Amino acid sequence: MRTHVTSVVGTAAILLVLCQAAAFAAEDPKAAEPQKAEATAGQAAAAKAVAMLDGVKTQYREVYIAVAERNDAAAAAKLLADLEPDVKRVLALLKGTEVEEQVASGLKGLGNLRKLLEAGETEQAKKLMEVLGQLGGSMEPRIRALAAAESAAPGDKVTRLAHVEVTSTGISDAYANAIARTVEAARTVAVEQFGFDVPQTIHVSAVVNPKNGTRLFNDGEDQINLTIPSVDKLQRPAVTGTFHLYGFCHEVGHLAMYRVIHQRTWLSSAGAEGWAHYAGSRILDAVYAREGEQLWPDAYNYLEDGTARLRKQLAATEPDSMIQAAGLWQALAEILGDKGLAPLFSAWAKLSLDESQPGVEVGKAAIARGDKDQLGRWWQKAAPVLVVAAPKSGFAAQSKDGAQLKTPSKELANDDGKPTGKRSMAGSGHAVRFIAPGKDCYLTAVRIFGSRYGQLEAPQDNASVWLCDAEYKKIAEFPCPYASFARGEPKWVTVPVKPVRVPTEFVVCVGFNPTATKGVYVHHDNGGSGSSFMALPGGKARAFDQGDWLIRAVVQEAKH
Ligand SMILES: [Zn+2]
Repeated sequence: MRTHVTSVVGTAAILLVLCQAAAFAAEDPKAAEPQKAEATAGQAAAAKAVAMLDGVKTQYREVYIAVAERNDAAAAAKLLADLEPDVKRVLALLKGTEVEEQVASGLKGLGNLRKLLEAGETEQAKKLMEVLGQLGGSMEPRIRALAAAESAAPGDKVTRLAHVEVTSTGISDAYANAIARTVEAARTVAVEQFGFDVPQTIHVSAVVNPKNGTRLFNDGEDQINLTIPSVDKLQRPAVTGTFHLYGFCHEVGHLAMYRVIHQRTWLSSAGAEGWAHYAGSRILDAVYAREGEQLWPDAYNYLEDGTARLRKQLAATEPDSMIQAAGLWQALAEILGDKGLAPLFSAWAKLSLDESQPGVEVGKAAIARGDKDQLGRWWQKAAPVLVVAAPKSGFAAQSKDGAQLKTPSKELANDDGKPTGKRSMAGSGHAVRFIAPGKDCYLTAVRIFGSRYGQLEAPQDNASVWLCDAEYKKIAEFPCPYASFARGEPKWVTVPVKPVRVPTEFVVCVGFNPTATKGVYVHHDNGGSGSSFMALPGGKARAFDQGDWLIRAVVQEAKH
């Protein structure tokens, strides 16, 4: 989906190709989850130890009360016996750190204390408790400091402006500040000039990673990610071939649309990229007016990369579909005015569309925004470029009551039940092909092995499960509540569906529409049944070559 990095040649073709390359990158789970969420093993362990500290302290206090206030050595010894395994776990978590020795001696002290208590040596026990109390007191800040030091990964830096937070790794302060200022200015332009509903804070992750190519993409909500293989790739486009300033404006353009229009299977990729190209070009012009040429540390005349470049591209003899789409958005803005676009996006977001012919309603909503003749002419040109229809399956959706179906149900599985990896899929879905075990089978449930990530509270909205025919055309759609998936340990989740008849060969497709802060990891095994795909209904399916999704279909035959 969603990018922008382009060659200095700046041709539309190159622009589009790289966008698609970035779409692939966005399916990487690391891309779907913010960088800062990744923890080193050391950090995770230290954080777990810190999480256990309060419990250990409370338990130890109970031991102290039993001895000092109640003089009940036997009860204290029992409480200590319960405490020791927790302290052992803390020690295991802190193995190899500078506090290991101290924790080990504390644990040994607790063992000695228990022996004294079991022997009824209360006075000696009290003395030892004083020593242990001091040891614990000096240990706690060291353990907490260890966790804090590790949670800020080396080189991880946060640069904040009023509405932007840049987390960067391996990038100089000058570039981190320039990125923050660029995104802040782009956001201001999106609000003031276009009236767009943009995030209160845009989060940017900018990371140097020699293993990656140059990539810029967004999560459709409030996050922009930049990865570059080396720091010199931040230089001006004449040197690197990468239009960073235009790129950030392009991403802000995507966010302005995507976070409003969640359901946009009707929008072609040329339409979505054309929009970001047009909006990004306009925003870049305004950013230049506000910030001037010195905005970027390796300063260059980036005004050339805004509408000036778009104008040249539109004047070409055969502009490709993405540039054509950018031209169509420009024409629409001229009819509706800059501030007329946001209300149209909101109107589009509210439509409930017949996906087999979405253009009817989308067009009507656009034409209703102003001069009917002018907008009607615009829509005639725009519809073939901007709209894609997802044809319905020729296999009719027939349903039955549960009572009309034979039991027991059959669970169809292509996976072996042994998870070896997981994926969150932005801009696509998890799809599995099945063969019906009989002539008259009905899908009654879908089972998914997964776990939710992101915000603590489950989002209120539903993900989707689709029954499709072998050509990925939709037969039926069912809601799949996000709240069915727990955070943390993955587990099998059964999503019951209204029974719908399946063709002999059918596809179950699951789509979570994830962002950086909301999504579900679906796990896969390392098998090779060849029945797992990355697809959404009506779209192109790509084979998933890492294994089989742990997604199963539950079917029941009809009674006759
Ligand atoms: Zn893009």
